[in-house]
Amino acid sequence: MLAEIPEHGRYIEKIRHFLNYPVEICRRDDAQAVTDELNELKLEHVSFAYPGGEPVLKDISLTIRRGERIALVGYNGAGKTTLVKLLMRLYDVTAGNITRNGTDIRELEPAEYRGQFATLFQDYQLFAATLGQNIVMDREPIEEEKAEPLLCKSGFDKKFASLPKGYDTPLTREFEEDGMSFSGGEAQMAGICRSLYQDAPVIVLDEPSSALDPLSEYNLNHTMMTLERDKTVIFISHRLSTTRLADRIYMFEEGRVVEEGTHEELMGLDGKYAAMFRMQMEKYR
Ligand code: ADP
Repeated sequence: MLAEIPEHGRYIEKIRHFLNYPVEICRRDDAQAVTDELNELKLEHVSFAYPGGEPVLKDISLTIRRGERIALVGYNGAGKTTLVKLLMRLYDVTAGNITRNGTDIRELEPAEYRGQFATLFQDYQLFAATLGQNIVMDREPIEEEKAEPLLCKSGFDKKFASLPKGYDTPLTREFEEDGMSFSGGEAQMAGICRSLYQDAPVIVLDEPSSALDPLSEYNLNHTMMTLERDKTVIFISHRLSTTRLADRIYMFEEGRVVEEGTHEELMGLDGKYAAMFRMQMEKYR
């Protein structure tokens, strides 16, 4: 045990560093509350560079209205995830501005503003807690009548029916010997349940279907597209089959929007999106 102490010390050092990390985006004294319904998110000439780095987004202008299904596509490193992080105000823009219903998001109360987004990023985590806690997070106790339809929407209902302890099923073996381990696809469906449970006006999905089999992927996409029409869905996808359903597609390349429009419009344009789409179709032949 003595030999292990220095090793644990190093882990604790990392946690301390994280806990003491200064928060750069703080609540201002004159911050405005976010009380009205979200109608529009607008980026005007937004550029961004990570601290000490080269610009990764350059002069982006786009508008997302309530209820729209927006797809962000492009090769790795094009800046799609960074755009979503700016939109959620995890970072502040380097130039330009982002507004919500016409108000600069820097003037809004950060926690309330961020509360408008439910996210499912690729590196989401299931925690060593019960399934119910993993779905509701800090909004305990679980409202079963609210969770029930989401199990179905996320495709998790079949797996759920096989769990004798239901929402009380312990996940992972970290603390419980009989803790449940999910497959990648099942874990992802549980993650989707969590995002939907949050009931936020904007849902952000960063390549959500990567661990799903084709049928589950189809179901997930269908679910996202048929969510209540007042929900805004922003999804980042490499698989262009999903993008056919989007109201608008933005194709990113090297930090710029190079094409925008519906699937049909972009195919008609016969530019970069059409080339990427055709390349993917080749693989399925
Ligand atoms: P995409 O989502 O399109 O794959 P990203 O937004 O993740 O692209 O990345 C855009 C660029 O920003 C890449 O060159 C990437 O290396 C860089 N980048 C991403 N996150 C960070 C970070 N936290 N710090 C510095 N550079 C980053």
